[in-house]
Amino acid sequence: MDHFEIKDGVMHAEGVPLTRIAEEAGTPIYVYSTATIERHVRVFREALAGIADPWIAFAVKANPNRAVLATLAKAGLGADVVSGGELMRARAAGIPAAKIVFSGVGKTAEEMALGLKEGIGQFNLESVEEAEMLSEVATSLGLTAKVAFRINPDVDAGTHSKISTGRADDKFGIVYDRAVAAYARAAELPGLDPTGVAVHIGSQLTDLTPSRAAFERVGVLIAELRAAGHTITTADLGGGLGVPYNPAVPAPPSPADYGAMVADVTAGWDVRLIFEPGRVIVGNAGVMLTRVIRVKEGKTYPFVVVDAGMNDLLRPSLYDAWHNIRAVEPNGDTFIANIVGPICETGDTFARSREMDKVEAGDLVAFMTAGAYGATMANTYNSRGLVPEAIVSGEEWAVVRDRQPIEALIEADKLPPWL
Ligand code: PLP
Repeated sequence: MDHFEIKDGVMHAEGVPLTRIAEEAGTPIYVYSTATIERHVRVFREALAGIADPWIAFAVKANPNRAVLATLAKAGLGADVVSGGELMRARAAGIPAAKIVFSGVGKTAEEMALGLKEGIGQFNLESVEEAEMLSEVATSLGLTAKVAFRINPDVDAGTHSKISTGRADDKFGIVYDRAVAAYARAAELPGLDPTGVAVHIGSQLTDLTPSRAAFERVGVLIAELRAAGHTITTADLGGGLGVPYNPAVPAPPSPADYGAMVADVTAGWDVRLIFEPGRVIVGNAGVMLTRVIRVKEGKTYPFVVVDAGMNDLLRPSLYDAWHNIRAVEPNGDTFIANIVGPICETGDTFARSREMDKVEAGDLVAFMTAGAYGATMANTYNSRGLVPEAIVSGEEWAVVRDRQPIEALIEADKLPPWL
């Protein structure tokens, strides 16, 4: 459920008409709803009510805007970060270091040092080589790192291939059969306290069976590690729970179903569970607001050319992602159209032969469920400034990331001395 509703003929974000935001801040722009974010946190927490003291670390990659992170910090969430930049953003938004987990397959020594100096809660390591580097960095600083190994459970999450992370040949995690040896090695290394196990099999998961299979493998491993003399106190079950993008297809499992499955699988593990939800917290809490530049005649269907491009919302071209596309002021008519952006690539197509609200030049259109992996993946292709972001809370709203002026792009390029 979200707080984007048509009231008096106009789509509102909570108490604010999207027409007002478009007029005052321009388009394209992302608009987030605080009430929706807060609701999703509440629903996720309630789903984990049967689990003692869960550590919920929002996956910053899904939406790193400081206002969004500060909203989540206020709600008591921690953060799952995958770079020094995300770590600094989480800290700048007020997320305590102790609630931060540092994931990612390619942490550098500098990023490790940053995490250690900040005093983050846990490093999720993805290889023995990474453990050796972290050991060196930690000992050079005279610090000890709490670490988990992310294991690769060899489970196909059944999602889009580019966001599947738990198959044996994916780049993530330690080969399952070599995990016990990895913990033995980590236990010998100074500056490391290997007390956790982590797993994450992918994103936009619409079936709980693969997650259950992966978590069961974690349970078996915890028992094996304890039998080998290791003290295991945390298990990080990653993120991945899908969100409903298309109202016409069955909804993914609910957070409550997910929580019940987790409670069932992890009964008796005797660890603190860590969760890294991203999409399920912010996905439905954001829309991308764009204006129709023109409707161009096509051979079969008209092309609705909007002022947002694949550089502003990459998911459709990268993952064939489906976003519901709605008129901000629907007139009750529908038509079948192709929705495209202005970028010079055929890949800049948001939807083909889509039945949607009938729109014409100048109308505003909202791409629903754009709060996760939306603005954060935006880029400046075709020399388009980075897309701005706004957040609404009740009757109030504010721009929380300015539109990048083209002058900033030009100034960032430097001419060599010979030109
Ligand atoms: N944790 C890790 C390690 C990830 O790579 C991701 C994203 O794929 C997430 C958490 C968040 O996933 P989602 O946004 O699907 O919940």
